[in-house]
Amino acid sequence: MKGTGVSPGISIGTAYVIRKAPAVNAITNTIEEKDKPAEISNFDKAVKEATGEVNRIIDLNRSRFKPEDIAILETQTEFIGDSQIRSDVQDKILNENLPAVVAVREVIQSMVQMFGEMDDEYLRARRTDIQDAGKRIIKHLLKDDSESARRYTENTILIAEDISPTDALSIDTSLISGIATVEGGRTSHAAIIARSRGIPAVAGCGPTLMEIADNDTIILDGSTGDILVNPDNHKIEEYRKKKKISDRESESLKLIRDKPAITKDGRKIHLLGNISSHTELEHLFECGGEGVGLLRTELFFMQHEKLPSEEEQFEFYLQVAITAGKKPVIVRTLDIGGDKQVPFLSIPAESNPFLGYRAIRISLDRTDIFLTQIRAILRASVYGNLKIMLPMVSCLDELKAAKTLIKKAESELSDSGIRYNSKIETGIMLEIPSAALMTGMLSKESDFFSIGTNDLCQYTMAVDRMNRKVASLYDHFNPGFLRLLKTAIDQAHEKGKSVGMCGEMSSDPLAVILLLGMGLDEFSMPASSIPVVKQIINKVDYKDAKEIYNIAMTMESSSEIREYLQEKSK
Ligand code: PEP
Ligand code: MG
Repeated sequence: MKGTGVSPGISIGTAYVIRKAPAVNAITNTIEEKDKPAEISNFDKAVKEATGEVNRIIDLNRSRFKPEDIAILETQTEFIGDSQIRSDVQDKILNENLPAVVAVREVIQSMVQMFGEMDDEYLRARRTDIQDAGKRIIKHLLKDDSESARRYTENTILIAEDISPTDALSIDTSLISGIATVEGGRTSHAAIIARSRGIPAVAGCGPTLMEIADNDTIILDGSTGDILVNPDNHKIEEYRKKKKISDRESESLKLIRDKPAITKDGRKIHLLGNISSHTELEHLFECGGEGVGLLRTELFFMQHEKLPSEEEQFEFYLQVAITAGKKPVIVRTLDIGGDKQVPFLSIPAESNPFLGYRAIRISLDRTDIFLTQIRAILRASVYGNLKIMLPMVSCLDELKAAKTLIKKAESELSDSGIRYNSKIETGIMLEIPSAALMTGMLSKESDFFSIGTNDLCQYTMAVDRMNRKVASLYDHFNPGFLRLLKTAIDQAHEKGKSVGMCGEMSSDPLAVILLLGMGLDEFSMPASSIPVVKQIINKVDYKDAKEIYNIAMTMESSSEIREYLQEKSK
């Protein structure tokens, strides 16, 4: 099988296949006598979890929701815990041998029908509440293959449709030696996390991947994207040798860890890492990272069942600040929405999530959440070298509004006599074309910039970064896209502001010289990419990089540019 190599390295191990819970409609099989008690207790557990979930939503949003909204949710909890529903479900499990999900579906369907036939308009309208209650119970019944419930053995290779960022974060790296997914590409969050943890991974393998069975022997090459299923001994031996060589290469790259990234003619470049928690710092510094160019805070939120409190957040930022010491850490404020959802915020599904209620748009709407996060970051700023970065800024007004809130958080802390770094820098991500085209103006309010090519490329090219069918268009060597990057860098430099890049383009070995030639000041990437990028920078003259960039800009297609860069990198 073949996919896209998204995290380098070779791994040889046994498959653990994570299958999505089947759609309820697809579950038709009956159950055996011995399984009935377990099905009934699964139902009771799902009811308890569903009730807890709705109560948490009510508690967290009491000040925001209208009384009618709260009443709807309260009615939902009544239906979820309804004793008649429970006894009907139990009856179907015991007497009709149905699994709990099917029993719930049938009981709910017949109740919906019964309420629909009632004369009383109020009772008729309760059908939707019953339906919602049923959906919520079913959701919890199907939630059976969560990361915490899985048991891995050593050298497991995970095989999955896709791996959620939350799952990817909680994976025990000591046991997982490789990841392969049906969906996704280099910039899917699971791939990003695999790279930052040094786990070889292949994404976008297509549906045949799911034909792999548990315990199949797998060879996975995260550089070429090759996956071999149940290979013969000859192949296993061949790949063991390759693995030895590639492990040795990555060890020798680590030897240049303490050397600075500097071009032959003396231009110093800062190489930083992208992380999601303090546990990744050790690996980052081992690879020679000079600090953190992007701390993705949303993944910490996604691991919680409810909104983390200011104290919990403070602890999280504090650990990062203390572990990093004097090294800079750019803390990005919450960037949820798109493919990153947190269940406790109950953000309704949108037809265009990447263009919708996301990142700073949520922060400026839910100022309670934003202020809590900013206070926690500011409190931790005394213990290290933290900076604040705002995601998805599209115009100056958004930046000004966020900065007013940051000032408010600062005065709240001052009023309570709590210390913070009053000189903390605030910068923004450049990941929306409008912002990239006006860095000059944004420089009035932004201390620094960091280009998020993962999003900037999808918005510039109008290509969903998660959609395999259009992945060939998602190309950071597109001449239009390169011009946009250059404009952003030039305008910011004119105003004396530095520009970094924390999108995945900064770790593409082919792109490094081009970005250098454009004048990029700082590259931030998954830790394991740092040694390779440093080696490239150390071997080139800045003036040659500028020349290479200028020549590339005379070319009309990304394939031409790519070929030229390949030629130049030989
Ligand atoms: C980006 O968009 O390039 C980026 C770094 O942010 P994320 O991948 O978290 O959206
Ligand atoms: Mg982004």
